[in-house]
Amino acid sequence: MSVGEPSVYLNGEFRPLHAAAVSPLDRGFLFGDGVYEVIPVYHGLPFRLGEHLQRLHDSLAAVRISDPHERDAWAGLVTEVIRRNGGGDLSLYLQVTRGTGPDRDHFFPKDTPPTVFLMASPLRPTAPEVLERGVAAVTRRDFRWGRCDVKAITLLPNVLLRQEAREAGCSEAILVRADGQVHEGAASNLFAVIRGALVTPPKDRFILPGITRDLVLELARGDGLAVAERPIDQAELAAASEIWITSSTRELLPVTRLDDHAVGDGRPGPLWHHVDGLIQDHKRRWLAGVGTTADEGRPA
Ligand code: PMP
Repeated sequence: MSVGEPSVYLNGEFRPLHAAAVSPLDRGFLFGDGVYEVIPVYHGLPFRLGEHLQRLHDSLAAVRISDPHERDAWAGLVTEVIRRNGGGDLSLYLQVTRGTGPDRDHFFPKDTPPTVFLMASPLRPTAPEVLERGVAAVTRRDFRWGRCDVKAITLLPNVLLRQEAREAGCSEAILVRADGQVHEGAASNLFAVIRGALVTPPKDRFILPGITRDLVLELARGDGLAVAERPIDQAELAAASEIWITSSTRELLPVTRLDDHAVGDGRPGPLWHHVDGLIQDHKRRWLAGVGTTADEGRPA
């Protein structure tokens, strides 16, 4: 293995990245028929591992792929990928597809084991100057399917929408359904501060049940902040005093421009500073082992 080359796990074996390959008949390749997880790793420890593995299990059940591993076996694989990639701060990617059938056929193949793939790459924290000024976002029509609660690898709409955002000079596309309601970003969940209260769209089939979304809700509620999980329409979002997006790799990002208008005074707002502080404190305490459980990601 060349110096610094990632070590990946594929179907029972660890290999250097360049030596890992799947068949062109893999259903992930042919149909986007699979699910995935992205787990942040801090100082060699997977954050909220139990929650990610539960969501993986739920995604697999939703698409009728039988879960190839018990939770402990998954945790063991995650720990081993982290170890083989030097620990530290990583973004761990885990994918399961319906496997490689005998030919290209929509129907599920019989007795075909799922393809299991894990890799890790460096976790790049958001640059301090980006956090200082916030990011820009655009709204776009949400043309994804009706099961956005499943973390499916079938991401063509997300890819197209995020690329449009980038070409508009923005970090994220915030997605609006035909009824005028905003649900989430192309690769993130959405929060808004509306008349002083923190609001986020409810968990339903139009959003991914984000692990970071849950963390923000848990910490905000624990801190006594007013929080509502309810639909947000586009006009309300445009008038919000703060807008944030969340994801496992980007944590909590303040959106300070939406569709070319300043959000609030155009700078990250006071509630963003406060909740970001709660998250950073929580991570520090978790890393120090205070008030944690094995389920929270600390490998046994
Ligand atoms: N929604 C979508 C569509 C996403 O792709 C992501 C991140 N993968 C999220 C929300 C955020 O989820 P999490 O906090 O679990 O990373």
